[in-house]
Amino acid sequence: MTQSLTLSCEFFPPRTDEGMKNFRAAREQLLPLKPAFFSVTFGAGGSTQDQTFETVVEIQNQTKIPAAPHLSCVGSSKKNIRQLLLNYKANNISRIVALRGDRPSGMGGFEKEELHYANELVEFIRSETGDYFHIEVAAYPEFHPQARSAKADLNYFKQKVDAGANCAITQYFYNADSYFRFVDDCNKLGISIPIIPGIMPISNYSQLARFSESCGAEIPRWLQRRLQDCGDDLPQIQAIGLEVVTHLCEQLLKGGASGLHFYTLNRSQTTLEISKRLGFLTS
Ligand code: FAD
Repeated sequence: MTQSLTLSCEFFPPRTDEGMKNFRAAREQLLPLKPAFFSVTFGAGGSTQDQTFETVVEIQNQTKIPAAPHLSCVGSSKKNIRQLLLNYKANNISRIVALRGDRPSGMGGFEKEELHYANELVEFIRSETGDYFHIEVAAYPEFHPQARSAKADLNYFKQKVDAGANCAITQYFYNADSYFRFVDDCNKLGISIPIIPGIMPISNYSQLARFSESCGAEIPRWLQRRLQDCGDDLPQIQAIGLEVVTHLCEQLLKGGASGLHFYTLNRSQTTLEISKRLGFLTS
């Protein structure tokens, strides 16, 4: 494996005993990848706040791999975020993925929201804790679904970087050119932090179609048609997914991406298979 590559894997906090078992198994199976960090998602408005905290601390204590909680500011007060930052610091957690988040529709009971966008959250983390945290932010090669325009989205991305982000992880995509174009546009704006492609392995078409609809990630027509043709044949969907996503990763690395961030969905198999095909793992 090329040593300078930064590999990372994302999990969500398990909600059941069975889910916990699967998560722990996946986490152990992914260790041979020597990830730079494992990250754990966060429900906007704090719906999984405690579980994110516990999962991150467990990962770091059990695996010695740095763990990065996702932290969203939507529906949260500065006081609450300050307390979380202190708790993370007290547990030697020094990486954070800083996000605006999405307010779940129809869900009330939020605290007074004081930070409205991710750039404000990054600014707040820096003002509270200086350079203690390594901060990752989100990037959207196919643009955020609520973006006023592509240009505005890029300029807002620059604001997050100027506020003190160290690195960015992208939303997933299946079109390598959208990533290369985005990185070029960022370079033209003077953005020089690493922009790591987020990789979504494909193992279930209907689930992927649902996700993609809500987060604005495009599944190209040719890929949709190939996956739809498989019907309920999961092994066939997975075979196509492996071929397509491995090829995407090859293109990205060849084109200069300095790492890959795998959205594992708490499963290891497809991430490991892609990694083997890319030559990161020998067995
Ligand atoms: P922002 O960067 O704040 O952008 C949000 C929108 O507002 C964009 O359309 C942008 O153009 C616009 N905008 C930005 N700044 C301003 C400004 N100052 N003024 C006006 N408009 C502005 N969600 C979760 O709930 N939990 C998670 O754990 C989680 N993890 C994620 C991890 C990654 C790697 C990615 C890519 C996304 C993740 N998300 C998560 C989803 C994310 O929270 C949503 O995409 C959310 O809608 C935007 O978050 P953001 O941090 O990109 O927002």
